[in-house]
Amino acid sequence: MRALAVFPERRELRVIEVPPPARRGERDVTVRIREVGICGTDRDISSFQYGTPPRGSDRLVLGHEALGEVVEVGSGVRTLAPGDLVALSVRRPCDDPTCIACRVGRQDFCISGGFTERGIKGADGFMTELVVDEERYLVKVPRSLVEVAVLLEPLTVAAKAAMDLDAILRRYPWEPLGLRALVLGAGPIGLLSAMMLVARNATTFVYSREGTDGERAVLARSFGAEYVSAADTPLSELPARVGMADIVFEAVGTARVAFGAMAALAPNGVFILSGFPSARGPIEIDLDSIMRDIVLKNQVLFGTVNASRGAFEAAVRQLEQFMGLFPGAVRKLITHRAKLEDVPELLHRPSGVKQVVDLSR
Ligand code: BGC
Repeated sequence: MRALAVFPERRELRVIEVPPPARRGERDVTVRIREVGICGTDRDISSFQYGTPPRGSDRLVLGHEALGEVVEVGSGVRTLAPGDLVALSVRRPCDDPTCIACRVGRQDFCISGGFTERGIKGADGFMTELVVDEERYLVKVPRSLVEVAVLLEPLTVAAKAAMDLDAILRRYPWEPLGLRALVLGAGPIGLLSAMMLVARNATTFVYSREGTDGERAVLARSFGAEYVSAADTPLSELPARVGMADIVFEAVGTARVAFGAMAALAPNGVFILSGFPSARGPIEIDLDSIMRDIVLKNQVLFGTVNASRGAFEAAVRQLEQFMGLFPGAVRKLITHRAKLEDVPELLHRPSGVKQVVDLSR
């Protein structure tokens, strides 16, 4: 069967033939992959800046944003049956007995750093026809979501952040109503996070490079966010333009923009970092004022990566909610469906919002 693999040592990316995987344990499930989303992490891996092949292998099969269909289940599988649609989670636990996070199934909080991630770090990914995984790493998806369910994995970034955000918001001794939110970046994660904030009734602004007539600006407005273009509003004018935000969700992966926008964070505000920047060398930022604000305004800044099973389940509920509120906007996030053979070119030529590989083609 076909798979798209990266060979970091040889700096190669190509479609290869691999043998179909075999089920080993009674909890194993064989999944036929239907669609896989392409993201910035895949681009970093395919340009050899990130990613690690499985131990002893010279190549890594790409892909971690997957939607599949169960084809066979082991005798011990209780919650899934052939024909079920599933989203596949990404991270697998480390084997360090002292890593409490992995031992309780919360490898998204792995302490040892010894976790693996399918399609990213030490384990093959999902840009192939069949995969085998344990039942506990697969989350059932309702059929009604089939056309957009490939967005579940990126949506887990917002879902996990929302879980932590809720825990932090509980520190207020009052009900936080009428929140104002600023999302930095209008890529898939930025737009999905903005949808999440709009769905929670926050007054939501999306700030990005594209002009106010661009595809992403139109999309953001279509689900109820206000779009602010960096072309008209420099970072320094953000607080005056959008007001002080109780929540800032960073999804650009650039320290200059992230920390430059900290001046727009309201007293008691929460700043969420979700992008990981590539090393661009040192930049000048006024950290003294940022620190002063964090302290004098009780602000919280936290980073978030990867997602637990619970975050996947929350993402399924969120996507159902979005499809009730603004189905057209959700569908428009997927701007391109391609076949596996076309992915190497797509990886080097990003266009649209979310590009998806259709494995049935
Ligand atoms: C994936 C996460 C992963 C992270 C770091 C992201 O693109 O969605 O699951 O933890 O990359 O490797």
